[in-house]
Amino acid sequence: MPQQLDPVTQAVRIQTVKSPQKEHSTPLYLTSSFIFEEAEAMRAAFADESDANIYSRFSNPNVDEFIKKMCVLEGAEDGFATATGMSAIFSSFFALLQQGDHMVCSSSVFGSTFTVVTKYLPKYGITCTLVPANDEAAWEAAIQPNTKMMYLETPTNPQLEIIDLEWAGKFAKKHNLILSVDNCFATPLLQKPIEYGADLVIHSATKWIDGQGRVLGGVIVGRADLIKEIYLFCRNTGPALSPFNAWVLSKSLETLDVRMERHCKNALELAEALQPNANVTWVKYPFLKGHPQYDIAVKQMTAGGGVICLEVKGGVEAGRKFLDALEMVSVTANLGDSRSIASHPASTTHSKLTEEQRLAVGITPGLIRISAGLEKVKDIIADIEQALIKSAL
Ligand SMILES: *Cc1c(COP(=O)(O)O)cnc(C)c1O
Repeated sequence: MPQQLDPVTQAVRIQTVKSPQKEHSTPLYLTSSFIFEEAEAMRAAFADESDANIYSRFSNPNVDEFIKKMCVLEGAEDGFATATGMSAIFSSFFALLQQGDHMVCSSSVFGSTFTVVTKYLPKYGITCTLVPANDEAAWEAAIQPNTKMMYLETPTNPQLEIIDLEWAGKFAKKHNLILSVDNCFATPLLQKPIEYGADLVIHSATKWIDGQGRVLGGVIVGRADLIKEIYLFCRNTGPALSPFNAWVLSKSLETLDVRMERHCKNALELAEALQPNANVTWVKYPFLKGHPQYDIAVKQMTAGGGVICLEVKGGVEAGRKFLDALEMVSVTANLGDSRSIASHPASTTHSKLTEEQRLAVGITPGLIRISAGLEKVKDIIADIEQALIKSAL
């Protein structure tokens, strides 16, 4: 592959070595293990003296193709792909941190990430201080002599807060921390954390990367020395990405650029259309001028992403009525699909919390998260507008 090709072009063209069949599209390598012609070749592979595939828990051609494309898109040295986004996140913590270590983490992180850092890491003597996403003084105050890692998401889910990556990169460097960024909401096409000094970038490939709500997957890319540790941890503990899912995800990367362009355009138009709406208190989208971190968003992102959120008037009850009134938009626990999706955290994912607890994590009673799909935007807007009218009845 000529190095001068644009990363987007490379995400279309990178492929595993062709088989003797000379197929145009990469075949599926559904095989648990790989054969060796000679004992010596097998010895060398096990001794890490060659890159030969041994066993699909370690590596597989479909998985490698997906990783190579992700490394090119993020500008990373190396990577490892996992069965889910959560296994990528979990493995990055357990491979790189040990008993007695401390990490600082944005309090606005994905729900399961929050559970891992608050419930499971402490069981193994790894402590974590949660910090409000945009409170620079609080990040500074959280640093301890044993702080090893800084972990954040931007934009955050579901409140779409933006953390300044340029600041985060400098802060991590100053305190000698591994900076790990969950880049799920932005994708590498809108934001490249490594350019700002991130050491690791993590994705739930389940979302925009798959893009059609079909398979689960995760990937970690970044500094080669850190990926080596993560690889050894995963090779032995087994959160491997299935070759079939890798094949799906690699094919999806061929269209990520055109898809994201349309998702972002639809999301921005939807956000603009809903701004003056009698049944909506506020609309939030990183590329709307009124967003509290608009200046940072336009500095570090090339577009605002595919998710918007809004507050429907009338609280939890109005939020439930809104979901019930939707005729086209799907009500489901995912995002980043070709089909638009709406969710209402207060009555679903966060319904077991008290209202106070919900407010503490930024879940207001009428908060609706919308993942803008690839439908014609007029159809998305029309469905949401009619559901908003019914939410007030
Ligand atoms: C969905 C999601 C995850 C978890 O990914 P899975 O593939 O569901 O395990 C992590 N981070 C963010 C921001 C997500 O949206």
